[in-house]
Amino acid sequence: MPDGVRIWYVSGQRLCNFRCAYCVSVNDYAKSNVADWPAEDQARFERIVDWMADRPFRVGVRLATLGEPFASRPFLAKAAWLSARPNVDFVELVTNGSLLKRRLEQLDREGHIGKISLWVTYHPTEIPLPRFIANAVFAQERYGCFVVINGLLFPDNEQEIIELKRASDQAGLRFNLDLGYDPLTPHGVHTELGAMVPVLREREEDGLARALRLGAHPELLDLNMAAMRDLRGRLCRAGHDYFYIGVGGDVYRCSRYQALDKDRLGNVLDDGFDLQLSSEPWTACGAGFGCGNKEDFLHLRGHEPAEGPPPPSLGWVDRAPPAAGTPGAGPRARRDDEPGTHAHAVPAGPSTAGPSTEETR
Ligand code: SF4
Repeated sequence: MPDGVRIWYVSGQRLCNFRCAYCVSVNDYAKSNVADWPAEDQARFERIVDWMADRPFRVGVRLATLGEPFASRPFLAKAAWLSARPNVDFVELVTNGSLLKRRLEQLDREGHIGKISLWVTYHPTEIPLPRFIANAVFAQERYGCFVVINGLLFPDNEQEIIELKRASDQAGLRFNLDLGYDPLTPHGVHTELGAMVPVLREREEDGLARALRLGAHPELLDLNMAAMRDLRGRLCRAGHDYFYIGVGGDVYRCSRYQALDKDRLGNVLDDGFDLQLSSEPWTACGAGFGCGNKEDFLHLRGHEPAEGPPPPSLGWVDRAPPAAGTPGAGPRARRDDEPGTHAHAVPAGPSTAGPSTEETR
């Protein structure tokens, strides 16, 4: 059994305070702007989180949602509880960042805030950039959360990405740029890269060059493209020290296997479910193509993590530290009680935290 296992679980929490045109929570898994999850979905979520906390090995969890996690008090209560379990290294929440100033306090009061990791995606039509950055800085500086600012590159948002990266660098925040996907691309079928990734629609080389110029990680961009195109003969750790749990509790090696309904490992909610992870670190991928989620493809052979403890995130990869004197250089110390995060210096920079009255709700 590996030292620690990473889990990506997508829960059925649905309420969101944003209305992004490109939201990937669509169809059966649509978010809602008016109602949170039905009681049945919440009960299922609680049981699945209990199951993760009961594992006889250390776990790091990306606790994802269909909506905005900070819009749901019951969701936050259970996330806080999970963060305080002794075998849990971190709990990563994927958020729009709008409610951090108001609601991180609940995680601090009820859980272990030092184990909370935040993947904070910028949605420029929904929140002003200064408020967004101020909220992220608040999470990093007030509570010591591991914070990553995430941008999604689409054909028409280059200027917003430039401003986002500049503001993140100035504020001393980690910055990540991912390719934006078309939410209506069908799962499980072979689709053209240009159909799945709008920025690649015209000339693919131009789209990739633009992503690199705007701050995408070169190695990960290559890996992303290779994993989408052709996985024949590729080895992967998914199913050994990482696995995926879907909304209904079904367990698969990764989300791509779930999309293909391939080799289901069972369901967490079934009586007597006995998770069997592969004892071999590297096994052949049988998906063929289409591995487009970073949580998944970071486990492909060919991406070898840096030495030292892995970051408390299923999306962040440590990069070479910036040269002294550049924005983001000069890391400050983290809180001592942050398991799994000690080796990851927080980029330092001027605080742009603003007054809490700037919250959107
Ligand atoms: S390469 Fe992607 S699709 Fe294949 S097993 Fe690994 S994570 Fe799954």
